[in-house]
Amino acid sequence: MIGAGSAGLAAAARLKAAGVSVLVLEANDRVGGRAHTLHGPSDAALDMGCGWLHSADQNEWARLAGPMGFTIDHAPAAWTKPSLTVNFPADDQAAYQKVFEAFEARLAQAAESEADVAASTLIQPDERCWAPLLNAFSGYYNGAPFDRISVKDYAAYQPTDENWRVRKGYGAMIAAFAADLDVRLNTPVTRVEHGGADVRVVTAVGAIKARAAILAVSTTVLADSVIAFDPPLPDKREAAFNLPLGHVEKAFLKLLHPKDWPEEQMLHGRIDSAETGGYTFRPLGMPVIEGFYGGDLAETLEGERSGAFCAFAIEELAAVLGSDFRKAVEPLAESAWRADPFIRGAYSHARVGWSGARAILAAPVGDRLFFAGEACSLHAFSTAHGAYETGVVAAEAALRVLRP
Ligand SMILES: Cc1cc2nc3c(=O)[nH]c(=O)nc-3n(C[C@H](O)[C@H](O)[C@H](O)COP(=O)(O)OP(=O)(O)OC[C@H]3O[C@@H](n4cnc5c(N)ncnc54)[C@H](O)[C@@H]3O)c2cc1C
Repeated sequence: MIGAGSAGLAAAARLKAAGVSVLVLEANDRVGGRAHTLHGPSDAALDMGCGWLHSADQNEWARLAGPMGFTIDHAPAAWTKPSLTVNFPADDQAAYQKVFEAFEARLAQAAESEADVAASTLIQPDERCWAPLLNAFSGYYNGAPFDRISVKDYAAYQPTDENWRVRKGYGAMIAAFAADLDVRLNTPVTRVEHGGADVRVVTAVGAIKARAAILAVSTTVLADSVIAFDPPLPDKREAAFNLPLGHVEKAFLKLLHPKDWPEEQMLHGRIDSAETGGYTFRPLGMPVIEGFYGGDLAETLEGERSGAFCAFAIEELAAVLGSDFRKAVEPLAESAWRADPFIRGAYSHARVGWSGARAILAAPVGDRLFFAGEACSLHAFSTAHGAYETGVVAAEAALRVLRP
């Protein structure tokens, strides 16, 4: 097993349950990959990566939470409720909502035609004033603006309306899931030799022979050839390249007087620019503000000094709420997913014309090499539960070969 993210851990657990000896090789010094919970003030669980159990009524992690001793919060997401009106009047919110729904309906219709197009081509001329906000949304949702998003791929994602959270953190729960698994941390895989009877997995600290290997690393890691394959796998690399990870980062601010602020309240930093943050005040009642940054803004800020996301959040919110806001918060934490050499981004989207790449990436190579990870999911890509499902599928395919 290569990679101890949601997909790799799910695959390892499935193989272990079937009585197969399985070793998980993980490059980083912790399990979870893009699932990672930090501990904030007043026991706050800060999910730096996945935080929402999307499609929670069909989400295997949601089913596992209770038995693992994790409490689920079923409160509706702040983004499903009106945003603060201080910079986004209620009438404008209603107008935007209508434009957004019409745009999504056109996307769904366009996905039915043979040719794939960029989602941005579906924004109508009379909706252009809302293009910045639509692209800010695309930054959070896809990790890139709509001109880089395949309509067919966008429409293939099929979430339900249920979005729940894990009170002690989605990342903490996924890490706890690894407790019974044999995981070797700080063991980056550099090469996979799969031409012989066995697979030879070369790591920075020695080589391991196995009857089969499941690769559950991100597409950008694969596309950048962090792992070499012998024989080479040009189709996989091409598929991974055309399913790049978008750029999404989070920043958390500590509220010094949390009771002065509403709980579970969304605020758009700006509505006239795609280069803005989405903010949730006091998620789960915690004494924090969570900022979400996508696409080009996330790219720019990550290129700056460390602390740039929190600094941007404070300035952007002070511009909306008044300069006294600066005295109401302190920087707390921010993510750096793009900079992590073994992650390199947030979640996958297909380049225009490449929605078929997910199936190519997911296909096994011979009867020794299997692929998993969120990008391999056909309808729940970009999520932790989608990753989990691909891990189980890959493990079952491997089992059919190992135990015909
Ligand atoms: C900011 C942000 C917010 C998100 N929000 C949500 C959300 O609310 N809900 C949701 O469902 N999803 C969300 N996601 C997406 C979700 O976190 C991912 O889709 C999911 O965790 C991916 O799991 P994975 O197993 O496919 O990959 P990863 O988690 O990337 O796991 C791959 C693992 O492989 C390891 N690895 C890489 N290279 C090597 C190597 N050479 N050798 C050994 N190991 C290696 C990595 O270190 C990593 O641990 C979010 C992601 C981000 C970044």
